[in-house]
Amino acid sequence: MSDTTETPVSDFHALGLSNDLLDGLDHMNIRKPTPIQQQAIPAVLDGRDLIACAQTGTGKTAAFLLPLIDVITSYRPKEEGSIRGLVVVPTRELALQIDQQLQAIAYFTPITSIPLYGGSDGSTFDSQKQALTSGVEVVIATPGKLLSHLNLGYVPLKGLEMLILDEADRMMDMGFVDDIRRIITFLPKERQSLMFSATMPPAIRELTKQILHDPVEITIALSKPAEGVDQQAYVVFDMQKANALEHILNTNEATSIVIFAGRKIEVKNLTRHLQKKGFNAAGMHSDLEQSERESVMLAFRNRKLRILVATDVVSRGIDIDDIDLVVNYDVPHDPEDYVHRVGRTARAARKGTAITFVNEKQMREFGRIEALIGYEVKKMPLPEGTNGPAYDPKARPAREAGRNGGRNRNGGRPRSSGQRGGGPRR
Ligand code: AMP
Repeated sequence: MSDTTETPVSDFHALGLSNDLLDGLDHMNIRKPTPIQQQAIPAVLDGRDLIACAQTGTGKTAAFLLPLIDVITSYRPKEEGSIRGLVVVPTRELALQIDQQLQAIAYFTPITSIPLYGGSDGSTFDSQKQALTSGVEVVIATPGKLLSHLNLGYVPLKGLEMLILDEADRMMDMGFVDDIRRIITFLPKERQSLMFSATMPPAIRELTKQILHDPVEITIALSKPAEGVDQQAYVVFDMQKANALEHILNTNEATSIVIFAGRKIEVKNLTRHLQKKGFNAAGMHSDLEQSERESVMLAFRNRKLRILVATDVVSRGIDIDDIDLVVNYDVPHDPEDYVHRVGRTARAARKGTAITFVNEKQMREFGRIEALIGYEVKKMPLPEGTNGPAYDPKARPAREAGRNGGRNRNGGRPRSSGQRGGGPRR
């Protein structure tokens, strides 16, 4: 947890949660509420709507799950058979993860829940329909799949008590805003609504006006990378990245590595490249079938897979502990994504390393990241065996070499293809 240092001295008993929930938390070894839990839980238990600006890693999931479960288990349903809590999330991974967290926290309660997400075949759709109509209490859904069921008219939502929109900014970015507006039309007007978002752009503010009623506002400051993360940057030309990466993977002792790339095409190419070079690597991106994603994540969690190459799907919301090394194959566009990506390592006060490749065009973007985190990330010399010259911001000819995709116009050493990939292999 990144916020533990700021956690005021308090405990979950003081927040008025039921004994069954306290037992569940105890079971999970969760002892002290984080700041967002401290602020959100009493407000939600008080029946207020809520808008919370908070990142992954602040404990925001439990901040809404705890009062949701408490309300459901403490009061009789308004309408028998109706879904009582609806959590809408941008990705299936997040839906699964929230459902798992719910199952853990609610272990000593009889609460029922299902995750609902797309990419399923007809028989899954039928079993989802069956689950939705059989009295399930909490549904955690991606917008598209939820709407497919809603449009067919059988989803019992008359007695819905709480709507939660998680990672609202992400849902906006992914183009779900109309779906969300449409989903709202299926819900009873009298309900409690909570919205969680990592950022609060004007479009989200606008949406809150339409969805929330006199909300309590909570803002949790962006958590900076934990102190245990050794952050490093390599200033490289694009054509040097693969080579530098191989060297890092060959010389670093890390057993659990995530490599982030901005686009899925890059994830696919890089995964293929690493596999060809004999590395134990697999890709994770939105084109994979659900079963493929699950088996990749399982192998990674069980440490059967050393290297996970992923888009930002994994950096937000996905709960993988014990990652020793994060490599940003490119500079994340949004500085906050850097914090999310780097936050995948050194969780819970352990040590980890985060390496970012910065090409000559991304120096300014990387500067924005350094401004956000409040310090300079140390720049490392290029690993031994990396093809081509090091980038020198003052040396114009070298920049040209980079711009031209590695064609050597700088009058320096000629490079043969034999020199590429010259590092040790595995
Ligand atoms: P989240 O911000 O919801 O993604 O939570 C990040 C991680 O923090 C999850 O692994 C949670 O199980 C864990 N967590 C949530 N609340 C607490 C807490 N009060 N103390 C310690 N860990 C927590």
